[in-house]
Amino acid sequence: MAYREMDTQGWQVLDRAHYLHPFTDHASLRQGGARVAVRGEGIYVWDTEGTRIIDGLSGLGNVNIGYGRRELVEAAASQMLELSYCQSFFKTTHRSAVMLAEKLTSMLPDSLNHVFFQSSGSEANETAIRLVRHYWDLAGRPQKRMIIGRELAYHGSTHMAASLSGIPPMHSAGGDIPMPSVTHIKTAYQYRNGFGMDPAEFGVLAASWLEDKILELGPDNVAAFIAEPAQSAGGALCPPETYWPEIQRICRKYDVLLILDEVVMGFGRTGHWFGHRRYGIEPDILQLGKAITSGYLPLSATVISDRIADLLIDKGGEWAHGYTYSGHPTCCAVALENIRILDEEKLVENAGATLAPYFKAKLDSFIDHPLIGDVRSVGLMGGLEIVQDKATREAFPYEAHIGDYCAAEGLKRGLAFRANGDTMSLMPPLVTTIEQFDTIFDIAREALDATAKEFGVTA
Ligand code: PMP
Repeated sequence: MAYREMDTQGWQVLDRAHYLHPFTDHASLRQGGARVAVRGEGIYVWDTEGTRIIDGLSGLGNVNIGYGRRELVEAAASQMLELSYCQSFFKTTHRSAVMLAEKLTSMLPDSLNHVFFQSSGSEANETAIRLVRHYWDLAGRPQKRMIIGRELAYHGSTHMAASLSGIPPMHSAGGDIPMPSVTHIKTAYQYRNGFGMDPAEFGVLAASWLEDKILELGPDNVAAFIAEPAQSAGGALCPPETYWPEIQRICRKYDVLLILDEVVMGFGRTGHWFGHRRYGIEPDILQLGKAITSGYLPLSATVISDRIADLLIDKGGEWAHGYTYSGHPTCCAVALENIRILDEEKLVENAGATLAPYFKAKLDSFIDHPLIGDVRSVGLMGGLEIVQDKATREAFPYEAHIGDYCAAEGLKRGLAFRANGDTMSLMPPLVTTIEQFDTIFDIAREALDATAKEFGVTA
């Protein structure tokens, strides 16, 4: 049958037959079938049934300027017509990668002046760890090997990135993930790791877990600490203000490199251009991805401090690392256009000054809901943590999949949001209006009410 005549069911049949989805329970997908998305504009996505859905997640936290911007399409088309591909391996370069590298470094702290490109956040984290190893070898301290990550962190899905991640189902029963050179500490999740404490004191305590781990391993053995400014996939975990200054101090004290994974937080998610600005962090390696192109094309950037770059350039010889699509011309051209739009339309400034306070006030009002134990947000990333018992903070059993139930109730009513564990997460596009926020939160409340009813929870 011609594709153009195929109905939803036809697409679902083909989908089941051939397309393996990422992070999916395939047996459960087979029972229901996938929603078939066909079109996107602004904050909305339409499916084959003609249903309009608000994308409360900006895709996967990447579609910051919204869907359907012609300028990005035109930037891609003109770059493709001019120079559709260019490798940078053999003493060749091209203009869009150079311009983007220069643009990014002009927006970042003075010490960050060199950029390595790849296609995804996972690859960026592979690059970072290979680079860190190479750096310590060149610095004459090859014993500095251990990488410290955090529980509930998400850094990607390749072997090393999954090892750095602290999400238990990503670690293999056989023990090869996490790799032996990676270890994890508890994270700045106050609701579970420091309930009732003064937030400022908790921030210092949570940072001290890094110092404890460095001392346990021996500072001479620790290469780097990797963390997200605030954690999205972990369930909207936002650290207190005292956390990052302490982390920075500890990394400096023990000469442990700081890798800041801003793959989600970069380009406005925190209401600032970058998470490191929001929290006052000076990383040795900064990871950008996702919203660097607002999801129009795959691209990530690893931005490297002078301290590392100088050694690499002066003494490194050939560093045998790179990807076919490192600095892909079209992806770089689209990123430049995306940054121009974010900048000229003042989308980040508007998100920080106008949208984020409204978003936070709306989210905070959910603390009265009988299912919600904790509310967390930074900028336009927020989470509502579902609990069975608000007094004891007891969660629902995992098998109940209450978060997934709630997400499905949202989708029925036209809102895509997701469950990270039992935390309902929202990451709306930066172009969402106040009126659209009202609709998002009305639907979120209806979805939670329906969930409460189904699970027999009353106020
Ligand atoms: N780091 C962070 C903080 C992320 O949130 C993600 C993706 N959600 C990644 C890395 C991995 O990025 P990718 O899926 O592009 O490999």
